[in-house]
Amino acid sequence: MLNKEIEQEHIEMQKKFNEFRLKNGLPPENFKFVAVGYLDTLEPYEKGDVSTNFLVKLQVLWNEGITLGSAGHHECQFCIKEGNYKGRATSSSEKTLTDKENKITYIFPEMIFHYIKIHKYLPPPGFISLVIRS
Ligand SMILES: [Zn+2]
Repeated sequence: MLNKEIEQEHIEMQKKFNEFRLKNGLPPENFKFVAVGYLDTLEPYEKGDVSTNFLVKLQVLWNEGITLGSAGHHECQFCIKEGNYKGRATSSSEKTLTDKENKITYIFPEMIFHYIKIHKYLPPPGFISLVIRS
């Protein structure tokens, strides 16, 4: 699935959640959803190096956070394209990390580690700085 499809799913969930909140007299929550690390061979992505500090913190956050259900099964399309079926990564787990100050919820899959380490994926700067200060 592409980043924009993941974002759309979360927007729909937020709508339902806000209907529930409004019925119960609570103000709606309006976070912007940003999906990071749902890569596909159909879309270009940013490449670059990340710091070890970032990777270590992301792993810690991944280990302590709540794993959400799955938004579908993800397989590394880049490995498949290269004929690397054996080494390809697969996972359907995803997590969210919220930047309360800027009202942004980032959604990221377990596959992000594979994309960063193997395919040099560079996540957006806002996500990197949030992970580092979390
Ligand atoms: Zn791969």
